[in-house]
Amino acid sequence: MLIMKFGGTSVGTGERTLHVARIVQAQRERHPVVVTSAMSGVTDFLLALAEAAANGERTICERVLGDLRARHLEAAQHINPHASWERLSSRLASLDAAVEDALARRDGSAATCDAIASFGELLAVLLVAEALRTLGEPVLAWEEPVIVTDDRFGDATPQMEATRAAVHRALARADLRPIVGRSPDAPTSEYLQDAPAATLVAAGFIGQTADGRPTTLGRGGSDYSAALLAAALDAEACWIYSDVDGVFTADPRVVPDAEVLPRISAAAAGRLSYCGAKVLHPRSIAPVARRGIELRVRNTFHPEQPGTLIEARLEGPRGRPQAVAGRRGLCAVGAVGDGAAEVPGLFGRLCAAILAAQGEIVQSAHPVVGHDPRAIVDETRIEAIVECLRREFAAERAQGQIEEIVVQKRLALCTLLGVQLGHAQLVHAQRALAAQRIKPISQSACPDALSFIIPEADLNRAIVRLHDEIIKPALRSGAERPNRPYLDGAPPAGRARAQGRHGNAS
Ligand code: ASP
Ligand code: MG
Repeated sequence: MLIMKFGGTSVGTGERTLHVARIVQAQRERHPVVVTSAMSGVTDFLLALAEAAANGERTICERVLGDLRARHLEAAQHINPHASWERLSSRLASLDAAVEDALARRDGSAATCDAIASFGELLAVLLVAEALRTLGEPVLAWEEPVIVTDDRFGDATPQMEATRAAVHRALARADLRPIVGRSPDAPTSEYLQDAPAATLVAAGFIGQTADGRPTTLGRGGSDYSAALLAAALDAEACWIYSDVDGVFTADPRVVPDAEVLPRISAAAAGRLSYCGAKVLHPRSIAPVARRGIELRVRNTFHPEQPGTLIEARLEGPRGRPQAVAGRRGLCAVGAVGDGAAEVPGLFGRLCAAILAAQGEIVQSAHPVVGHDPRAIVDETRIEAIVECLRREFAAERAQGQIEEIVVQKRLALCTLLGVQLGHAQLVHAQRALAAQRIKPISQSACPDALSFIIPEADLNRAIVRLHDEIIKPALRSGAERPNRPYLDGAPPAGRARAQGRHGNAS
């Protein structure tokens, strides 16, 4: 089985959805299971809709609902004006009802928000399925979420065993026929497996709790859904299609001559995602890498390009920098005061309070034990974090050991990733930043990554500089040749690739 996941831009219009159907059809021998995102932008609208409903803003709700309806019906007409589109109409009616209910109850709970957000993917499933039918392919649309999760709405955690069981139950309802597959335990041996006679189409991003309430896996979570389905189905491969040629050496919007990496290790791809490159949803790599399932990032609009292969175990060339990534929207927070060093377990308590506020700790800056520790956190929860820290250190503040909770905003993480990086690269990177008068507020190094916390305003300059000085020469010097997106010798089309997987691909 082959999992093929398409992002929001890939299914952004009826025309594009038909194009996706053709790409899927071309792989029919491999038993594709399609995972789709919502049409581009739709999730944002649905979340705005949920908020407007919670605030009782009926006019806004009606306008957004009207736009969403028009957009989906227009796509449907383009895909096949002769199809009945009954399921689509009834889904749209259910969305209206869900919003009406939220409006009536002024319900802004995370659970209701997820219930409304889940419509984007549920509608897209119907469009993609009908596009395949229009091309004459037998299709089975999974119209309910198949991934079972906990009830942390908005950022739910999948439960693998329950998901596996649900996927196989759903599969059993499909018309199955035996095919030869790979054994998940011994990938070299072949065994008989059941595959559906039809192409399955499933919704990305969404799941449901064991008792059937809709959840979502966090923004950009369709990649993760694809990986989970690949794992649950013991698929041979999982291809993630978006609007860029693969994983780049840097965000091509920032570095126009960034290049596509032909291969990258799962570990490096994972690090890249956490460091801000939108390679893949950060959690989507482990479930497939663990099982040795081939994971590939490909471009819907250049389906002939091989993309980037994410290999479970790729040692890679030693001592070679591979990519530079940037992550914006960070803050440094700390509890400071003359008596801070007297407070036992200060750093641990700082971290615990941040976690209690559901903040994400990205790094720490902790030069001297007990003195002025700072946690680098994602800014999304900063208000709640500060609240929590004030409460946590109330006693120490009353006694004057801690004077204030300090927050330094608008910071970014700039990371140089590679394999077995060393002192030479660290010094090189430090010099490159210094030459740009960029002053890191902290830095840290391990063999796979050198990272710097810098002002957000300096991030693009830092990325360009590190790419020019360190990545580019490395690309030129070794056996590992990058995959030039255009093999015919034409210069890479900077514009066409202007939205990188490092950028905001979907
Ligand atoms: N539609 C969801 C989002 O926009 C999930 C995804 O596209 O991966 O976040
Ligand atoms: Mg998306």
